[in-house]
Amino acid sequence: MKTHRYAIGVDIGTTSTKAVVFTEKGEQVHQHSIDYPLSAPMTGAAEQDPEEIFTAVVQSVKLVVKNSAINPSEILCLSFSAAMHSLIAIDSSNKLLTKSITWADNRSAKQANSLKQDEKGRAIYHRTGTPIHAMSPLVKLIWLRNEQPDLFEKSAKFISIKEYVFYRIFQTYIVDYSMASATGLMDLKELVWDKEAMEIAGITEQHLSKLVPTTHIVDSMNEVIAAEMGISANTPIVIGASDGVLSNLSVGAISPGIVAVTVGTSGAVRAVINQHRTDVKERLFCYVLTDNYWVIGGAVNSGGIILRWIRDNLGENEVAIAQQQDRDPYDLLISLAQTVPPGAEGLIFHPYLAGERSPLWNANASGSFVGMTLRHTKAHLIRAMLEGIVLNLYLVAQALQEEIGEFKTIMATGGLMKNIFFRQLLADIFNCEINVPNSYESGSLGAAVLGLYALGKIPDLNAVSQMLGQSSQYQPIPENVEVYQKIIPMYTRILQQLQGEYDRLAAMATELNNK
Ligand code: ADP
Repeated sequence: MKTHRYAIGVDIGTTSTKAVVFTEKGEQVHQHSIDYPLSAPMTGAAEQDPEEIFTAVVQSVKLVVKNSAINPSEILCLSFSAAMHSLIAIDSSNKLLTKSITWADNRSAKQANSLKQDEKGRAIYHRTGTPIHAMSPLVKLIWLRNEQPDLFEKSAKFISIKEYVFYRIFQTYIVDYSMASATGLMDLKELVWDKEAMEIAGITEQHLSKLVPTTHIVDSMNEVIAAEMGISANTPIVIGASDGVLSNLSVGAISPGIVAVTVGTSGAVRAVINQHRTDVKERLFCYVLTDNYWVIGGAVNSGGIILRWIRDNLGENEVAIAQQQDRDPYDLLISLAQTVPPGAEGLIFHPYLAGERSPLWNANASGSFVGMTLRHTKAHLIRAMLEGIVLNLYLVAQALQEEIGEFKTIMATGGLMKNIFFRQLLADIFNCEINVPNSYESGSLGAAVLGLYALGKIPDLNAVSQMLGQSSQYQPIPENVEVYQKIIPMYTRILQQLQGEYDRLAAMATELNNK
């Protein structure tokens, strides 16, 4: 009988941890995910309980091994993906001093703004590849030092959620170059902790974990935890990388000209390059994937969150009809948008309802309809809003093209890609072929592939292209492209005019709210 061998990819995400068993050929055997909450005990906070996440990791591995009925001796490795930018303070007896402060925590916005104005901040962005923003652990450290000096003083280590999980399994603090490259504290070129960034944060190298490659293997795990997971304590554990870079690998977007676009609650445009680089205009991030690959791109706030707003504020009828007919309200709302022509008869929407990261990096950015007349209806509003989401993503893509050249094809994923009209909209506005994988496992497949590569089971990461299932393809429709090519410069020009007003508008809104 042929023996099978498996790699398990574990993706420690913001809303859940998912463990997926793959064969050596990348076929999915079984998956198990465990959800956990994101709590906001005060305005701007977005925290999680590290112990709860650790338990989710152990339980998801345990259940996926059990339910897939594989033999522990058949497991080649476990390999990890994790959400970027989290920060946890640990005291000198390795006890938690804080929760995991996630990427979504906005409490250090003020510190981000002042570091951004500083020449040193700009230089740090270019050396580390992490944009200066409240999400960045560097900025969170400055905030923590200012706001909670006693706690800061007591801290012996500052780590991410992945380092916490690894500490619990191996009793040692290690961090892969990929996760470290998203802290704003690691020099991308030299792959060492950046002295000036540490100085600005008020820490030393002692406060940080040991840096290791993303293919680093650890194989002597805590026996009790191994038993709890239902695996052998000698199973090779590959440290892996961050979800931001592994999602490109998961979708096979690692060759020149192939770009990954994700539109879930938020969105991102990313490409893999073989030499690290940053953007003169500071719109893009650059993070490590392996020794030879970096991921460059931009993450936006304005994704499905806008469609959710449409459903909750304009979609009362559609939600009711959907309930009666057992349909999806998103499908009904998007069908309504399809009843008006491309360009929504001159109505342009800037989608910054949640501020914006790339390409604006302004938490005060806000949304606007421009060109509205009596002719426009709810259908126009929805169409313009959907177009606005894609036009904003296109600005990020333009910034990326300035750095890495033209795209040949786009691999598109995320909740909005369930909708065929939205897929075509992406093809038309980007004027590029779009491929949507029929099945897709965000970070888990990427983690498993990186694990197989670390073990020498595959010669290089390009092997992922043979592991991907089928995808659906969409070509741009020339008549629609012509319309959007006219709208793009208009959208951009109007945005430039509005940008000068965003801070004043936000200040006015705060003043009015406080009255
Ligand atoms: P996340 O980014 O949080 O992991 P998803 O990738 O599933 O989540 O994206 C969620 C978003 O996808 C929702 O906010 C919604 O805007 C959008 N969405 C969900 N279902 C559909 C659908 N049937 N058609 C179009 N968009 C959808």
